[in-house]
Amino acid sequence: MENRWSDDDVVGMDDLDLLVHQSQIIGQDPSLVVWGGGNTSLKTQERDFRGREIKVLRIKASGADMKAAQRLHFPGLRLDDLHLLFIKEDMSDEEVLSYLARCLMGPDSPRPSIETLLHAFLPHKSVVHTHADAILALTNTRRSQDLLKSLYGRDVAVVGYQRPGFLLAKEAARRAMTNPMGSGLVLMNHGLVTWGATPKQAYETHIEMVRRAEELLSNRSMGRPLFGGMKQRLPESEHRHRVAAALAPTLRGAVSRQQIVVLRYDDSPEVLEFVNSGVGRDLCAAGPATADHILHTKPRALWLSAEDPEDVPALLAALRQGVEQYAKEYAAWYREHRTGQEPMLDPYPRVILVPGVGMWTTGRDAHYARTSADVYRHTVAVMGGAYALGDYVSLSPQDAFDVEYWPSELYKLTLAPPERELARRVALITGGARGIGRAIARRFAAEGAHVVVTDIDLEGARLVAEELTVGYGEGRALACPMDVTDEQAVADAFRQTRLAFGGLDVLVSNAGVAPVGALHELPPSEWRRAMEVNATGHFLVAQHAVKLMREQGMGGSIVFIGTKNVPAPGAEFGAYSASKAAETQLARVLAIENGEFGIRCNIINPDAVFRDSSLWSPEVREQRARAHGIPVEELEEFYRQRNLLRQRVTPEDVAEVALFFASARSSKTTGAVLAVDGGLRDAFPR
Ligand code: ZN
Repeated sequence: MENRWSDDDVVGMDDLDLLVHQSQIIGQDPSLVVWGGGNTSLKTQERDFRGREIKVLRIKASGADMKAAQRLHFPGLRLDDLHLLFIKEDMSDEEVLSYLARCLMGPDSPRPSIETLLHAFLPHKSVVHTHADAILALTNTRRSQDLLKSLYGRDVAVVGYQRPGFLLAKEAARRAMTNPMGSGLVLMNHGLVTWGATPKQAYETHIEMVRRAEELLSNRSMGRPLFGGMKQRLPESEHRHRVAAALAPTLRGAVSRQQIVVLRYDDSPEVLEFVNSGVGRDLCAAGPATADHILHTKPRALWLSAEDPEDVPALLAALRQGVEQYAKEYAAWYREHRTGQEPMLDPYPRVILVPGVGMWTTGRDAHYARTSADVYRHTVAVMGGAYALGDYVSLSPQDAFDVEYWPSELYKLTLAPPERELARRVALITGGARGIGRAIARRFAAEGAHVVVTDIDLEGARLVAEELTVGYGEGRALACPMDVTDEQAVADAFRQTRLAFGGLDVLVSNAGVAPVGALHELPPSEWRRAMEVNATGHFLVAQHAVKLMREQGMGGSIVFIGTKNVPAPGAEFGAYSASKAAETQLARVLAIENGEFGIRCNIINPDAVFRDSSLWSPEVREQRARAHGIPVEELEEFYRQRNLLRQRVTPEDVAEVALFFASARSSKTTGAVLAVDGGLRDAFPR
C-alpha cells in the first residue's frame, strides 16, 4: 500500500481542493475503491446564500468516481441540520435522502452519498471511508474478531454488519464515541473508516491501517500461490479464445432472456488463477463479500465446467443447463427472502466463470460489463485474502437479498433516462471507414449501439471507432480490418466481435465497388472483381452473421446496401448493376431462410450519394458525366434535378433508413426494399 501524499502537491490549496486531492489519490489505488465506491468528507466553514458563516459538510456525491473527482463532485450540506437527526430512532433511506436534499447548500448540487450521515455524525474534521480489499479479507473470515484485535488493538472499533443507512451511521458514531482515543472503525463485511484533523492525517492513517492488513495477509500466505495454485488444465491462449468465441453467442442469448446484455470476456492471469484453482468453485458458491460488490455482480457468480476445457459441445450443454438452473435458484432465493411487494429483478447471472476459459461479465453496455469485471476481480482478491487467513465467510443470503433489493437502489433505476433505440445492441458495418458506412456507424452509436467498424482501410476504420469511443465511452466501438472477399479476414472480424461483445444483433453489409465501362470492352478481371465484392462479399459476411445470430437465438437484422441500378440499370454500369442484382437476390433468400429464427434481411437502394463516397471516384464521375452528356462539375446537380423531390441524397439519409431496419420499428418487415433516391420513376418497383 503506497502512501501517495506529498506536501509539495498541495501547496496553496484550500479546504475543498485538499478534499479533492485526497479523494483522487485514494481513487488511484483500485485495491482501496473501485468504480464509484468509497467516500470522503471534510467539515468546514462556509458562507451561505445570505452571507452567514455556517458549518458545512462537504462530501462526495453519490456514485462519483474518486480517481476523477473534481470540486463539483462534493456537494455541501448544513452540518447543524444533519446533527439534529442523531436523536432519531430510525429513518428509512427515502426519508434520509429527502432530508439531505433539503440540507444542500446549492439547490443544483449533485445528490450526496448515501453514507453522508456516517460522516456527519463523526466529530472529526476529515473522514475517509473505503472498501479496501485487504480489510474485507480480514472481516470476511471466521476468526476476524481475533485477527482485528491483534492487528489494531484499540486503534479501531469494530462495527457489526448492517446495510449502509441511518442505523449503521448511528452505530458507527456510538462506537467511535466509546473509543475516543481510536483513529478508525472497521465495518464488518463492508470496509474501513479513518479520521483526522486534516485530510492528510485521515488519509495517512487509512493507508497505514490497510498496509498493516496487507502485511498480515502476505505473512499468512508466505509466498504460496493464491488459492493453492492451478489444478485444472489450462489451454493455450489461442485455444481459449477459440472456445470462448464458440460459446459466447449461446451464452449471450441464454442470459438475455429478460433483458438484453452485452458480454465482456476476461482471461487475465488473476482470473485464470482463480477459475483454474481447486477451490474456485466452492468459493464462488459461497456468496458475496460485501454490499458494494453485489450491486455490480449479483450475489453469486455462475460456475460452468466440462471435463475437457476444449470440449465445446459439452460446455454448450453445461451452459444451457447451468444458466437455467441459476435462474431457477435465483427465483427460489427471491421468494424465500422477499419482504414487500418488490418485483423480481432479472434472474440471470452477471458473472460467469469457466475453468480453462476465463470469465464473462454482462452489462447493459460495455461500461457496465467492464465495471462488473473489475468489481468481481476485487471479490476474487478478497476471497484470496480470506482463504489465506483460513476460510472465507460471505454475507448471509438474507443480507445479500436486502442489498440486491435495496429500495434506494431500485429507486435509482427508475430515475435512469429511457434507453436509446439501439441500446444493448451490437452492430457490425462493412465499409465503415467513410461515406454511407461511416454515417450509419455514427447514427447507430448515437442510438446506443456498440459498433464494429470494419473496412479494407483499417486506418480509416480506426479513426471512426476512435471518434465513437470518445463520444460514447470506452468499449463502444471496435475497428477490424476486413476485405469482404477474404474469407479469413471475414472470419477474424466475426471472431473479434464474439470476443468483444459476446454476439451481434445487426449486420450492415455495405462494402461495394463500382467498375465502369461498356460490357463489350470491360476487362473480365473487372467483372470478376465486381462479383467478388458486390455478391460474394455480401454472401461471406451474411453467412457468418446468420450463423452467429442462430447460435444466439435472439433474432437479428441484416441490412444490405443495394442500389437504384438494380431496378433501373444504366449503360456502362453493367458489372455493377449485375453484381448488385445478385446481392439483392441473396438478401431475399436470406430473408426466406431465416424468417423462422426471427432474423430479418432488408435492402436499401440509395442513389447518387456523393459525399465522402469511395464509390464515386473521379473516374466514375467522369464516366457518368460522359454517359449523361454533361460536364463533370454539373454531375451532382444533374442527379439532384433528376429525382422527383429535387433533393441531394446524403449518407445521413441512408443511415436513417438503416436505423429503421435495424430497430424494432421494422420488426414485421423482411425481404423488403426501400429506396433512398429522392424518388425515381424508373426505379419504381414493377
Ligand atoms: Zn461503504
